[in-house]
Amino acid sequence: MSEVLLDPVAVARGLRRVAGEIAEHGGVRDLALIGIRRGGEPLAERLAALLRELEGEAPPTGSIDITLYRDDAATALPNPKIGPSRIPFEVRGKRVVLVDDVLYTGRTIRAALDAVLDYGRPRRIELCVLVDRGGRELPIHPDYTVRRVELGPGQRIEVTQKDDGAWATIEDSST
Ligand code: 5GP
Ligand code: MG
Repeated sequence: MSEVLLDPVAVARGLRRVAGEIAEHGGVRDLALIGIRRGGEPLAERLAALLRELEGEAPPTGSIDITLYRDDAATALPNPKIGPSRIPFEVRGKRVVLVDDVLYTGRTIRAALDAVLDYGRPRRIELCVLVDRGGRELPIHPDYTVRRVELGPGQRIEVTQKDDGAWATIEDSST
């Protein structure tokens, strides 16, 4: 079974709202966006474009690769592996917003924080996600969320990002 959570119009509207919140929370000066590959990367790019529309200036963007080396949450290992990063700007002193498609246990973000801090000391780090599916196992919470949903057992979010827009659906693996 599959249920649409966000269609392309809802994603676009939600990202526009969140871009406004990011701007409201400190403008774009000294701001940088870092997408978690691969799902967070295109979202960070879209947010940067929206911030250019809103504020007349786009923040620099980068990406981090975090591998959970797992197939599902049941076999999650405690420490995700940090892969290659692309951070083509000075992190020191910046307000960094991490961007990901789905937030679940929080382990990916914990690893991403480690990766960012290896580059220097940002002024602050915030978190923006498309879907917060609950189920946190660490004290990590998003500052900006397009949609929050509580998933039942056996459910997961499917995120599809294409040129003509992004979809998020709730997939029932038990059917
Ligand atoms: P966490 O580390 O918080 O448990 O999981 C977050 C990471 O795993 C994100 O990078 C996200 O892409 C992926 N992830 C976790 N749960 C889901 C899900 O239900 N759907 C999708 N598409 N990705 C998920
Ligand atoms: Mg991911």
